[in-house]
Amino acid sequence: MRKYTLVGVPGSGKSTHGARLTHDFDLVRISVGDIFRWHVRHHTKIGARVRDGMAAGRLVGDTLVEAVMRDRLEQHDWNHGFVIDGFPRNRRQAEFFLETYDIDAVIYLEISDSQVRERVLARRRCSRCGTDYSLIESRPRQEGTCDSCAGRLVARDDDTSEALTTRIQDYRRNIGPVLELLRRKAPVFVIDASGDPDTVQAEIRTRLGLASPPAPGEGSTGRADS
Ligand code: AMP
Repeated sequence: MRKYTLVGVPGSGKSTHGARLTHDFDLVRISVGDIFRWHVRHHTKIGARVRDGMAAGRLVGDTLVEAVMRDRLEQHDWNHGFVIDGFPRNRRQAEFFLETYDIDAVIYLEISDSQVRERVLARRRCSRCGTDYSLIESRPRQEGTCDSCAGRLVARDDDTSEALTTRIQDYRRNIGPVLELLRRKAPVFVIDASGDPDTVQAEIRTRLGLASPPAPGEGSTGRADS
């Protein structure tokens, strides 16, 4: 069983690296942001409560976040473990988390605000199939159109310059106390997230002591990343 939480400023690569870990090690990815986006898309009561605040880049209230996390973790649908993306985000959430759950490690993705701004403002997602693009690193072949399904590419509602400023400020204000609390329970691995995704992912695996899964047809002996 492997239980990790990924913390880092918006745009530091939490979802990219969380998705790679979950895919290769058969873990379940739990993203509070994705859960709330699902509610907004499906016009639920929770969606109506959080929609405007999220679009403005504000954090959702702790009581609701904790209820959503509790429900999600109580599903117990992970056999091999989970990667939590973007939780806890402040002292109260960290206290709740530590009282309620155990984790093996915290992956802390570190990156400068200027690089974050550049990355986030270049993010696009396919409105049909959800494929992510970056206008810097992975441009679609045809502007505004998904390579896989020809869906329309859109920016997230909260990937505006103004909302991003709020999100970065919230993050910088809260990260110190969050890490201080998490360190009491699990090792915190500080990862330089400024490099290309393959380098960052390899560093994460090295620090977590994870061997790469075998490539198809390679047999069962995994190779440790370096
Ligand atoms: P993310 O996808 O992690 O960037 O989250 C998108 C938005 O969802 C955030 O800007 C918040 O509005 C909300 N959100 C996600 N996680 C949390 C959290 N742990 N606490 C409060 N709000 C959250």
